[in-house]
Amino acid sequence: MDAVPAAIDDVLRRTIDGGGHVCVLTGAGMSAESGIPTFRGTHDSLWSRFDPMRLATVEAWREDPALVWGWYRWRMHLVREAEPNAGHRALAELAQRLSLSLVTQNVDDLHERAGSIVDAHVHGSLFALRCFACERLHDGALDDYVDDAQRVEPMRCMACGGHIRPGVVWFGEALPHDAWATAVDAATRCALMLVVGTSGLVYPAAGLPALARRHGATVVEINPEPTALSAEADHVWRATAAQALPLLVR
Ligand code: NAD
Ligand code: ZN
Repeated sequence: MDAVPAAIDDVLRRTIDGGGHVCVLTGAGMSAESGIPTFRGTHDSLWSRFDPMRLATVEAWREDPALVWGWYRWRMHLVREAEPNAGHRALAELAQRLSLSLVTQNVDDLHERAGSIVDAHVHGSLFALRCFACERLHDGALDDYVDDAQRVEPMRCMACGGHIRPGVVWFGEALPHDAWATAVDAATRCALMLVVGTSGLVYPAAGLPALARRHGATVVEINPEPTALSAEADHVWRATAAQALPLLVR
């Protein structure tokens, strides 16, 4: 992989020349090369017998908050130890050169740490902690990470004593209103949408490429594997985020 496929290079050039807006939609595959596991990829042995889809729900939290907090505490630790990859850095650079909106399903902060402004975290952010009972934001320190701890008692809210939860959107919960409105706006007005590292199975986010296309955008998928979105993309580029994105800014 040493060059942008000609058709994609062409679309990008035409978008830049025409002053068109670019919307980038990223998913867990974006951070895979930073060592953050995707949901549908391999898992750390400690958590290998748990299904993330069963931990990322309100029901799981109500049933066993210490198990869910332990899992999120582990994921926060992974993210803190990780560094943005060449793909994250390339997107930050691309935003300097053209009009770009960054919409991510990722709950990590690797885009920000690479220098990007994230326009919409449609699935929230790991570190935006809040009280499960009263919704108040938790601005105190994070508890210490304990290696190999599966269950960790969640911190308590200073105001009401409720459990502190991660600021992510769990399966079955509504998306944050403002982030979703921003994402829809970006998808609606872009001339080009780059869909990077998402399986396209989690709605409503997975509906954004189709929305962009209905409003006239060209959709390009960057993913080493076929996905549920491949068929509706105008172009697919079978490469990883850290391979492909730096070629776009070269
Ligand atoms: P997913 O796990 O369903 O799919 C990951 C996709 O990334 C797959 O299509 C896979 O082929 C692709 N991929 C794997 N390695 C890649 C690479 N190096 N470069 C490009 N693509 C690669 O993830 P999803 O579609 O984002 O949906 C799952 C949900 O899980 C999201 O809503 C997200 O909030 C959450 N999640 C977030 C993180 C994170 O913040 N880093 C990690 C895991 C899951
Ligand atoms: Zn509270």
